[in-house]
Amino acid sequence: MSIQSVNPVNGKVIKNYKEHSWNQVSKKIVATHLAWLNWQNTSFSERAYMLRKTAELLVQRKTELATLMATEMGKPIKDGIAEIEKCASVCDYYADNGETFLKDEIIETEASRSYVSFRPLGVVLAVMPWNFPYWQLFRFLAPALMAGNCGLLKHASNVSGCALSIEQIIKDAGFPANVFQVLLINSKVVKDVIAHPAVKAVTLTGSTEAGIHVAQQAAQQLKKSVLELGGSDPYIILEDADIELAADICAQSRLINNGQSCIAAKRFIVVKKVEREFVELFKAKMAARITGDPFDANTNLGPMSRLDLRDELHQQVQENIMAGAKCILGGQIPDYKSKHAFYTPTILTGIKKGMPAYEEEIFGPVASIISARNTDDAIRIANDTSFGLGAAVFTRDRSLGEQIAKTRLNAGSCFVNSFVKSDPRLPFGGINQSGYGRELGIFGIREFVNIKTVYVK
Ligand code: NDP
Repeated sequence: MSIQSVNPVNGKVIKNYKEHSWNQVSKKIVATHLAWLNWQNTSFSERAYMLRKTAELLVQRKTELATLMATEMGKPIKDGIAEIEKCASVCDYYADNGETFLKDEIIETEASRSYVSFRPLGVVLAVMPWNFPYWQLFRFLAPALMAGNCGLLKHASNVSGCALSIEQIIKDAGFPANVFQVLLINSKVVKDVIAHPAVKAVTLTGSTEAGIHVAQQAAQQLKKSVLELGGSDPYIILEDADIELAADICAQSRLINNGQSCIAAKRFIVVKKVEREFVELFKAKMAARITGDPFDANTNLGPMSRLDLRDELHQQVQENIMAGAKCILGGQIPDYKSKHAFYTPTILTGIKKGMPAYEEEIFGPVASIISARNTDDAIRIANDTSFGLGAAVFTRDRSLGEQIAKTRLNAGSCFVNSFVKSDPRLPFGGINQSGYGRELGIFGIREFVNIKTVYVK
């Protein structure tokens, strides 16, 4: 069996990768476990040295890696370069801070000495998606390696080239053999990898459906899991918002990564009084995007990553229109002759409870506008979702915005007058159907450790 990479710009097969047999997979798992037996005893400074080397290599190879992304999943080159630079920053960040984050914590008791020590767990499996093929992996891998764990990667089937390039970087950075390895496997094999006694934990970034499967498989083996799943982030525009700023940020957030980001703005909840003004400005900004070849420097919206995902998105748009939504921009598959996965920026207005855009995640360049009577109504609608990844509120009253973000919006990351973004310094993750556990910051590095109590009488 083979795993295929297909260029979403033209539908051409880039490469077929031979799937690893179970025999190869189990040998790799054991090899990574054996590597961990030594790796767990390395010092923080040794690990930091290799992570800094990784950051250097990422920066040196950024054009090559961005080219791979553009070819395998359609990300415009300049966005790809920015993604690789962010990966370098997360490696440096944990190289600089990992030791402090994992320092023993003394807790005074009647013992002569009692404290908490953060010890590595062992081999952690990462199941990763195609939308940020490097960033999603590095934000797991940098803290995991710094904490003394080892990693196995099952990447999304359409980005095997990206996956193997990461394995090469880790090797070239001087990490000992097998500390990190790629498994070229079908998602059906993930269950057996999780069940392997040498695999101690699993992290998945992807759809809620995939998350549920992996959570069940991990639970059956009583293994720790972290899930970073989809979202339908609400962006609330209040009556007193700077509408020009809000429209600009909302368009940027909706179209980030060709509309395929878990923390993209998806539902725009606008207080009725300013809806007309917001929609007009927002539409102009969405329409101004230049859709095209990811290799063209002028392009700021590439294709979607796979043809099937584009077709599903169009189907969702049609279902909303049939349910009564109005399409005021886009909503059409560009009239190309061959298998391009492009979709033009689209705006649906009049979205109401029960319509797909109100209830489901829309993973592409499609914005859903929902009218709210007032601030309370907007907050109620924002929280009327099964997800809970990110949320944002726009208002000139910063303290009101902060109070809404802190106490009234139900999501893992709530921003005021800004779009939700991940940052190596800040914890990132969701609640409800958006998953559990946190990546990044001090909380991220402490997910895959044994929080060990040491008590000396
Ligand atoms: P998936 O969630 O199916 O894929 C993400 C990763 O999980 C891939 O490595 C995939 O492998 C793997 N996977 C899928 N199903 C299982 C399973 N049952 N057991 C173990 N691993 C599994 O995303 P899709 O590519 O199908 O995209 C579908 C939707 O998912 C999107 O439209 C979007 O809503 C959401 N999504 C969310 C992302 C996020 O950042 N939160 C990222 C990507 C997608 P394989 O590729 O081999 O199937």
